[in-house]
Amino acid sequence: MPSINIPNRRQYGLQIYHLNLVKIIMSNLPNCPKCSSEYTYNDGTMNICPECAHEWNDANPTDNDSDTKVIKDANGNELQDGDTITVIKDLKVKGTSLVVKVGTKVKGIRLVDGDHDIDCKIDGIGPMKLKSEFVKKV
Ligand SMILES: [Zn+2]
Repeated sequence: MPSINIPNRRQYGLQIYHLNLVKIIMSNLPNCPKCSSEYTYNDGTMNICPECAHEWNDANPTDNDSDTKVIKDANGNELQDGDTITVIKDLKVKGTSLVVKVGTKVKGIRLVDGDHDIDCKIDGIGPMKLKSEFVKKV
């Protein structure tokens, strides 16, 4: 009977583990910001720490231009941090009886992620968030 060499399962697994470890060490990713582990790996867009299961994203922004969200006003003009905008329709301020009147000018907006993508401070009302579709760049 010819003898077939069946690889020992455990050994095989260890070998894969070892290869992964080498790959991880050579990948030159940042250490985990939470536990400082150096065995972090990248899963497409997220960095993952296998030791504390922390996931974070600090991918090089220059590598990720396609992911950068462009925020546009009601006319389709691109908005940027620090822009001045005016409100194009009366907007009720949630939880108050205040209304941001159409034509209200808002200076120094800040773009943020989310449903309401503009963070700003409005005179007489205070800090609030607006939707870019209801503003236009001045
Ligand atoms: Zn960690």
